[in-house]
Formats: sequence, C-alpha cells, structure tokens
Amino acid sequence: MGSGPIEIEVAFGFVGESILWRGGNEGCIQDGFEWWQKVFSQRTLIAGTAHSHPWNVPACPSSRDEATFAGWESTFGRRMLWWIVTLTEAQCFQWNGSVYAPLDNPPFVLQDADLLRTLSLDGGIDYGKCTRTSNA
Ligand SMILES: [Zn+2]
Repeated sequence: MGSGPIEIEVAFGFVGESILWRGGNEGCIQDGFEWWQKVFSQRTLIAGTAHSHPWNVPACPSSRDEATFAGWESTFGRRMLWWIVTLTEAQCFQWNGSVYAPLDNPPFVLQDADLLRTLSLDGGIDYGKCTRTSNA
C-alpha cells in the first residue's frame, strides 16, 4: 500500500474488543458516509474509538480529534472513551467537564493496541489480521 505509516482507527466495545476498523493516511482519517453507516448500525455496542498517531510522540488528541470526539458524543447522546496509540504509548481520554483528559485507570485495556501499531506501520489494513473484525 502506501509508503509510510498511516493512521488507523478502530471502534471498540465495552470491554475493549475491536468492532470496526478503518484506515486513513499519513496525517488523518477522513470521515465517510460508509463508515458512519456502519458505526451507527452498531452504536449500542460501541464504547469509543482508538486511533493511531504512528510516531514517537506523546499520546494526546489534536484539536481535530477533540472536535471529532465531541461530534460522536453528540450523535450518540453519551460520553465515550477515546484512545490514542503512538508507537510508544497508549492513553485513554474522556471528557472531564472541561477538557478531554487522560484517564489514570481506564476501565479496560485496549485489546488491539499492538495490532493498531502494526497496521499503521504496514501502511494499511490486511483484514485477515483483524480476526475480531465483524466487517470493514
Ligand atoms: Zn488523532
């Protein structure tokens, strides 16, 4: 696929299990109608998303990420959990009333953090590796 690492996103369920995967590009993950259709159809199962920032950087959301988090929560009508996975860190964020703050004790371990890194570095999703993916 592409030449460099890309951002990958996975929507996960309430024990951190992967539900839906999608790939982006070097700098971001574009929203798309098809993705939203899948997300919305499984909205009762989805607790949040994780996406990669596939570099050696601190795990923290961009302003675009925070706008996206707020959009999901507005659509879903509830607060959610947001993981950022870099090559060296994985951090879960949640709205604390004023900002998306890192959680010291997230309710679960993100099950596929390493797979998220691997797919990002491979430059795309080989859906055969995503064994718990219900669809793509
Ligand atoms: Zn991001």
